Amino acid sequence: MNPARLLLVIPCYNEEAILYRTYAKLNTYYNGIKEQGLIAEDSRICFVNDGSRDKTWQIIEELAAKDASVIGVGLSRNFGHQSAIMAGLEQHVNDYDCFITIDADLQDDINAITAMIEKHREGARIVYGVRSDRSSDSWFKRSTAEGFYVLMQKMGVPVVFNHADFRLMDQRVLKELGNFREINMFLRGIVPLIGFKNEKVFYSRLEREAGETKYPLSKMLLFAWNGITSFSTFPMRLVLYFGFVNFFIAMLIVVYILFSFLIGRTVPGWTSTMLPLTFFSGFNMMALGLIGEYIGKIYEEVKGRPRYIIEKIVNE
Ligand code: UDP
Ligand code: MG
Repeated sequence: MNPARLLLVIPCYNEEAILYRTYAKLNTYYNGIKEQGLIAEDSRICFVNDGSRDKTWQIIEELAAKDASVIGVGLSRNFGHQSAIMAGLEQHVNDYDCFITIDADLQDDINAITAMIEKHREGARIVYGVRSDRSSDSWFKRSTAEGFYVLMQKMGVPVVFNHADFRLMDQRVLKELGNFREINMFLRGIVPLIGFKNEKVFYSRLEREAGETKYPLSKMLLFAWNGITSFSTFPMRLVLYFGFVNFFIAMLIVVYILFSFLIGRTVPGWTSTMLPLTFFSGFNMMALGLIGEYIGKIYEEVKGRPRYIIEKIVNE
């Protein structure tokens, strides 16, 4: 079996502090597995600059000038992590046999790449990198992340527990992925929907060596929220359940009011007016907001805007 032509895709947003180090590590590792005959000589590394405001793009250009195996893809603005990954992948779908995506900070252990390629050679079309040890993450990050995976699974989204965007996909899978046309590409939820033979590779998550997380709490929450609402209509069904319960309670209150009227106890009560009024109008607002959220999603998708815009490419 010929070694696979591998493309490593790395989304980068304001990563000047770590890019040289990342490149140096990857380059050494890459040369090692090329020598072992695990991947083809013309395997390459693609850095996608997601509209960084620091020197990320200059560094990518510099690396590309020195090393012909480095490809740089520059987006016209910040499109977000998932879109940056898609840009790097889709741009090269026909040129490589398999693709691995990994974050620029190398918090995901690159040594797992060997195992991923071996699983691919054994016939897996998708190999998920799974963090078996997250002790390097803060307690807060770890528990929110784990809560997120549990919640997603409970809501019927087929995410792989503790798998982020460190994964191998082969060309066939990537072609199928291209048929998912939504703008909100929540890859952790979409890739398992593609099917085919898949495997997992376990590794310990490492510390971010430099620079800071590009996912502060607000962005993390937004990411989780997007993941849930673009994949599951469960929150909407929940509203329906609440609606039923509320309707039932309202009926009891109506009976109570009628009964009070019939026995002549019709003292106009402020509490009995205000209480249900407040409760139900509050609930209505919440339900409307939630429905609005889904309509917003429809609105976004219906426009069919591009997921990303590529401004420039070096070493194509
Ligand atoms: N990233 C990106 N665009 C963004 C935000 C992040 O391309 O708008 C990249 C970032 O450079 C990194 C990866 O996505 O390579 C994951 O981000 P980060 O490591 O900050 O997230 P964390 O590991 O803390 O969840
Ligand atoms: Mg990270």
